[in-house]
Amino acid sequence: MIDQYEVVVVGGGIVGATVACGLARAGISVGLLNKDDPPRIWSQVGCDLRVSALTQGSVNIMQALGAWPEIVRRGVSPYRDMRVYDGAGHGCLHFDSAETHFQELGFIVENRVIVAGLWDLFESFECGESICADPVVAIAPHDLGRQLTLRSGRCIKAELVIAADGQHSVMRSQMGIGVQGWPYHQQGLVTTVSTAKSHQRTAWQRFLEQGPLAFLPLHNGQSSIVWTLGTASAKAYTECSEGDFLAALMKASDGLLGEITAVGTRAAFPLNFQHANSYTAEAFALVGDAAHTMHPLAGQGANAGLLDAAAMIELLAQAKERRRPLGGQQVLRRYERWRKGDNLVMMTAMDLLKRMYGVHEQPFVQLRSLGMNVINNSRLLKKMFNQYAMGLRSGLPTLASNAASHGKRSEGW
Ligand SMILES: Cc1cc2nc3c(=O)[nH]c(=O)nc-3n(C[C@H](O)[C@H](O)[C@H](O)COP(=O)(O)OP(=O)(O)OC[C@H]3O[C@@H](n4cnc5c(N)ncnc54)[C@H](O)[C@@H]3O)c2cc1C
Repeated sequence: MIDQYEVVVVGGGIVGATVACGLARAGISVGLLNKDDPPRIWSQVGCDLRVSALTQGSVNIMQALGAWPEIVRRGVSPYRDMRVYDGAGHGCLHFDSAETHFQELGFIVENRVIVAGLWDLFESFECGESICADPVVAIAPHDLGRQLTLRSGRCIKAELVIAADGQHSVMRSQMGIGVQGWPYHQQGLVTTVSTAKSHQRTAWQRFLEQGPLAFLPLHNGQSSIVWTLGTASAKAYTECSEGDFLAALMKASDGLLGEITAVGTRAAFPLNFQHANSYTAEAFALVGDAAHTMHPLAGQGANAGLLDAAAMIELLAQAKERRRPLGGQQVLRRYERWRKGDNLVMMTAMDLLKRMYGVHEQPFVQLRSLGMNVINNSRLLKKMFNQYAMGLRSGLPTLASNAASHGKRSEGW
């Protein structure tokens, strides 16, 4: 077991495990540290409470790294349609993959499936090593770059430390990097339901007074629920009886998929807007939720983190090839310039949408519905929305914009 790597990635969630795979694939020696053992095997009954709507851009990254076949083997759910309703008005948006050059708009995948697929891949690389169930407790400067201390007392050195340890990042705090942001005083209640009607491979979303309610199609025919509620309602609906919850969900969904016949475990996650003041420091970088946390109303958080991962992989692979220092300012500044602005645009767009659907005065609701219907009837505007939401806009890292991607029917739009 070695205690020195070119790069150490702290946090083996979706984003950290992706960076680690990409670097190991580029021949960079990398240590992947995670505070727990990531899930690898589970009972086939039921789905993970946490799922992600992966964009085509994210799927391109998984494919380019070689993780996608294993993720598909474990189970993914392509969605071909997306229907968004304004619960307070008459606005409606319908996105159809037939209007794009792709067979699907994206894929709903259980988070544990993505993580397990990436860890399986990572462990197949010779220059990658994983250390689990031993959280990092301290980070300090070192002649080589940085030195990490694990809870067991073990010390690990690297030219560059990449922190992917989530929104409450200990690494970010220890490096003294502050954050800007605010709580939404809302929680995302998640659960899995069975419904009388088929989900028809469609992602459904209804904007309600407290926040959006989404039904996301799962590969086993069930739907994953992400229901944004005020903090008190989220607590009440997480703790109430199954019967009361089903009645409330039925009412909120307006019987969208018919009767809800079964519901799984419920959990709620506080939602906030949080952006790190800086993405980098000497021999140190932040990726994923450690750098930015956004409202999940359009399912973009993990997708934005995967773009950070792809940018980091591209820049470090180039630096390695050109024999430049991996933890050097040149690489880190380019990473920060590339990703910080792009993330801020996405975070701001999510924040504006959240605020726009939080207004319930009728004149505004009418205007909002009108706006949705105008977009719905404009091929050009829908194409623009689709390109952005599917993670296919310009200026993306090469791994994300891989033209030879799965399911693409032809070049261009
Ligand atoms: C309700 C809800 C729904 C969402 N839906 C979507 C969606 O549909 N699409 C989408 O793109 N995004 C979605 N998101 C956002 C998405 O879940 C996150 O952006 C994403 O999971 C962040 O991944 P990450 O790898 O950066 O961080 P995390 O998933 O938080 O992973 C952090 C990892 O670091 C490890 N770790 C932490 N501290 C240490 C330490 N000291 N030492 C070692 N390891 C450590 C943890 O064990 C963990 O494995 C949603 C979020 C919410 C709340």
